[in-house]
Amino acid sequence: MDFFLVRPDQIHEHVIVLGGEEYKHLSRVLRKKAGDHVFVTDGRGMMYDAIIRSFSRSEAECTIVAAYERWNEPRLEVTVAVSLLRNPSRFDTMIEKTTELGVTTIIPLLCERTVPKHEKHARLERIAVSALKQCGRSILPTIFVLTKFDTLVRSADRFSLKLVAHEQTEQSQFLGSLLQHHKDAASVLLVVGPEGGLTPEEIELATENGFIPVSLGPRRLRSETAAISGVSWIVGGM
Ligand code: SAM
Repeated sequence: MDFFLVRPDQIHEHVIVLGGEEYKHLSRVLRKKAGDHVFVTDGRGMMYDAIIRSFSRSEAECTIVAAYERWNEPRLEVTVAVSLLRNPSRFDTMIEKTTELGVTTIIPLLCERTVPKHEKHARLERIAVSALKQCGRSILPTIFVLTKFDTLVRSADRFSLKLVAHEQTEQSQFLGSLLQHHKDAASVLLVVGPEGGLTPEEIELATENGFIPVSLGPRRLRSETAAISGVSWIVGGM
């Protein structure tokens, strides 16, 4: 099944107009014809089953035959906040995989030990778009601008469950066990630190602000692995 993403203003009543890159992919790469079905999402939770009616030189007009709300979306809202990483491709991997797993928001974090202090926002959004189309979700994750660790932990009250991944297992409960006691949480925030780890002061600030330190097992994972593993537990375990 091939999935396409359009802006909400490309949907008019029962008609969807596919233009730009989506049109090129549909017509030149996939060589779709009038009468073929396509699945189109607005990235805000709606997925449409539509039939291609006609092609012009730059657009394809499709008629909606069925609409599905929250197509392929997890029950709960998951936000992952991860420190920028020395190697940007590792951060890209984190964006791609956590999008596939079902996060609704990704927050690039600036922690005490974060090495790079910049992020290529447009590039991160392109990775999320591509992952969304690959896996057939209907909510495109929102990617925040770079946010300071302390700003985030002090302003996270809207989440029903706030978690900070912390590899020191004597201070942390195993995530899988903790989730058993929070099955009714509607929104979860998971924070993951940089290569050098979170400082004791950052862990203290997080716990003072209601975050629970969680372990992802006895092995020390790379930050992107910790984010992917944590999101997988949260989405699958609740
Ligand atoms: N430099 C740190 C050290 O030597 O202790 C390790 C940091 S780890 C590579 C990067 C981040 O991934 C950590 O800040 C933590 O948020 C998360 N992490 C890695 N392994 C983890 C585990 N087993 N349990 C919980 N979080 C983990």
